[in-house]
Amino acid sequence: MEQKRNPEAVAECIRKAGTIAVVSHVSPDGDTLGSAAAMYLTLQSMGKEVSLFCDGKIPDQLSFLPGAQLFRRPAGNEGPFDLMLAVDVSDEKRLGACAALKERSSMTAQIDHHPTNPLFMQVNSVDGNAPATCLLIREQMKTLGIPVTRDIAICLYTGISTDTGNFAFASTDAEAFLVMSELMEHGLPLAELNRILFRVKRREQARLIGRALESLVFRGNDRIAVMKLTKVDFKACGALSEHADTVVNYGLDTIGTDMALLAREAEDGKIKFSLRAKEPCTVNDIAAQFGGGGHPQASGITMDGTLDECVEKVLAAMEKKV
Ligand code: 5GP
Ligand code: MN
Repeated sequence: MEQKRNPEAVAECIRKAGTIAVVSHVSPDGDTLGSAAAMYLTLQSMGKEVSLFCDGKIPDQLSFLPGAQLFRRPAGNEGPFDLMLAVDVSDEKRLGACAALKERSSMTAQIDHHPTNPLFMQVNSVDGNAPATCLLIREQMKTLGIPVTRDIAICLYTGISTDTGNFAFASTDAEAFLVMSELMEHGLPLAELNRILFRVKRREQARLIGRALESLVFRGNDRIAVMKLTKVDFKACGALSEHADTVVNYGLDTIGTDMALLAREAEDGKIKFSLRAKEPCTVNDIAAQFGGGGHPQASGITMDGTLDECVEKVLAAMEKKV
């Protein structure tokens, strides 16, 4: 099966459904939560009974999203639902514990923008060229005939801006700006949200950036920037794993680097990698070798093992490419 946008097919599922579970991916980000929250508001306005699920903590930074407090981890006794709708979930593993909802839903559908998405639902509206799932959500709303409100504008802006690196990545396209123009017309509080999403930091986060930069080394003929954060680092800073989310960019933005890696010891004992590359280099192929995935220039891996062992394994694969 080929990836393609299919808002009509998703709309047909939605029209038939009374109860709908909207699901975000594990380690939730602005795009998956913005998409789910926008769909929540959209479906509610259509009179549907909607539940929001996410197997992961909602980052404090995104707690301003309308409906952020409604996301629940599935306990196993939810449903049944007429429809399960996954948003921004690149593969089945990224559903985490929410995968169990598939068996409890009569229809399953998804809206996503990861080129590696293997189309794991019954109905798949997937466009690997779209810079953010939130853009596909806007199209979905149009197909359903639901207008944008200020709250929906806040949700969609969150996903579009975070997945395009604040409109800076090469993936940023004309559609992103067309939708942005529409969101502005609906009262989007741009300056306020931009500050929340891209500028404010907790003190713990500022300290953690210091720790990460102290660990910065260059490998692979100095083309690869490498940073590590241990449990001890997080504890010393009073920081959480989510506070490291954009730290990898300090490595990538160093002149002379083609690729960057940040490895951290997460709260669950796993080693979480953020991989980044400057075009034309890619890291999704490297991530895939270790069971991870993502976008060509921004991917991630979750591994078992010790921090140093895992880093050396991934670095060996990266060094082969530079
Ligand atoms: P980040 O480094 O910001 O956590 O993740 C970058 C991108 O890589 C995400 O948008 C997501 O698509 C992907 N990604 C992150 N972690 C994982 C993972 O553990 N497994 C897979 N398959 N993809 C991941
Ligand atoms: Mn996304």
